[in-house]
Amino acid sequence: MKLVGKGNANIVLEDTNDNSPIKRLYRISTRYNTIVENNDYTLRNWNYIEQRIKPLLMDYLCGMELYNMTRDKLYNVQEVQTLLQSSDDLIKCIKMEDLRLPAEDGGASASKNITRYKDHYLKIYTTTSDILFELKPKWLYSVSVGYCRTCTHATMIKRNFLICPCLLVTDPAEAVERICSSSLNIYHKQLTEYFKDPSNILQCLYRLQQKWDPIRQLRHQSPIDLNTLCTAMTLRDVTIFIRSSISGQIAARIVDVDLKPKSKLEHWLATQNKLDTLPDASKVIHIKKNKPRSNLLLP
Ligand SMILES: [Zn+2]
Repeated sequence: MKLVGKGNANIVLEDTNDNSPIKRLYRISTRYNTIVENNDYTLRNWNYIEQRIKPLLMDYLCGMELYNMTRDKLYNVQEVQTLLQSSDDLIKCIKMEDLRLPAEDGGASASKNITRYKDHYLKIYTTTSDILFELKPKWLYSVSVGYCRTCTHATMIKRNFLICPCLLVTDPAEAVERICSSSLNIYHKQLTEYFKDPSNILQCLYRLQQKWDPIRQLRHQSPIDLNTLCTAMTLRDVTIFIRSSISGQIAARIVDVDLKPKSKLEHWLATQNKLDTLPDASKVIHIKKNKPRSNLLLP
């Protein structure tokens, strides 16, 4: 097993012996100190995804299944060695579709995949035949907030980014124009058409966020119902993979749909309060089109 991703509460592994054409990844919770606690969380998370999230995202949700991993597969994964000492149980994990672009050299270490751009909200990868966006759209729907929640939060914590993901919903032509440098121009037309299509993945997420709007709860204007609040916040913390092929095909999937711990409540309330009490000049409102920036893509 090879580590391919590490978050605050989980690791993602690739099985380097898997030669099947459809690759899978394994997501293991490291949120707690013992296997028993992590297995318990993974099971609750799995039930949450199946019962609450899947009916909302349907086919947009990345293919996944609950999987019991034997300990011997993890002997060389440094990140779980302490965890493995806590019990002899099998490790419950979520086995999911690998949405990354395939390595063009057949998987050898010197991959020809190129990272074209990278910030917190958007990563762009290309091969000779495909372009892949890895997008964290955050708060696409901010109407009830009164300002762009994503831009205002990014500005508050001094986080730089190329474009606000909301622009891909409100002004797709302008957003794609900014993203596609001259070397990516071959994808320009099909991506613009895709983001203009009302059935695209971001429009779908926008409508879901509108329906699951947490702002009244976060502002103490209505009683807090942790179950609906957690679902609303899951929908604001997903990752979207959009893959566009030179042949014109576009495929889009959503990942990172995990059950949020209820202990996050204080953090959510405090963050909303900080944002709401910022001076008006610090709140970002998308009123008019900004001028396209210079080419910020990496060479
Ligand atoms: Zn914005």
